[in-house]
Amino acid sequence: MSLKPPEQKSGHLVVPGERLGVIEEFIPDSGTYVKDGVIYSKIVGRSLVDLQNRRVSVYPAVEGVVVPKLSSTIVGQVGNAQSDNVLVRIFKVGNKRLSGDFGGILHISDVSDRYVNSMNEVCKPGDIIRAKVISEKNRIFHLSTNDKNLGVIDAFCSRCGNLLEPERFELRCPKCGNIEKRKMAPDYGKEEL
Ligand SMILES: [Zn+2]
Repeated sequence: MSLKPPEQKSGHLVVPGERLGVIEEFIPDSGTYVKDGVIYSKIVGRSLVDLQNRRVSVYPAVEGVVVPKLSSTIVGQVGNAQSDNVLVRIFKVGNKRLSGDFGGILHISDVSDRYVNSMNEVCKPGDIIRAKVISEKNRIFHLSTNDKNLGVIDAFCSRCGNLLEPERFELRCPKCGNIEKRKMAPDYGKEEL
């Protein structure tokens, strides 16, 4: 088996039979197939490499590209986190999966009506959040979770990485028992991703 490094960037146009990576490094997802340990694209589309969950998939190239707009409801994954803001990789607008991904930012002042001490209480890297686009200044999507249907919809244990389950106003890790806090959406854990 050759050890050519995988194309670790999302949004590339790929064709059937194009190499995406190897199964030692990635979990093959939709639009891919595996032969002799190598993951290939099954379709013409855009590759989506999820480095957090080590998944690679291909989304069909569709007409009419979906991009986030002002007041769009988006779903994204939390990336780099500071105490007063987090970066979000937007991968869904409304119910539509994006063919590439877009960067967004959620600032602490746009989290909630209530005072928030630190972004650490809101979301953590790897979490999936639903938010609204409130500005697209300088091609950066500024996000807000200040509405009752917005917030974290999937969160992962910061101790063991397992998906956290809601328990009253907190989240509990079914694997290690860790208790964590997030700004949860009311339908936490229910959205099909
Ligand atoms: Zn855990």
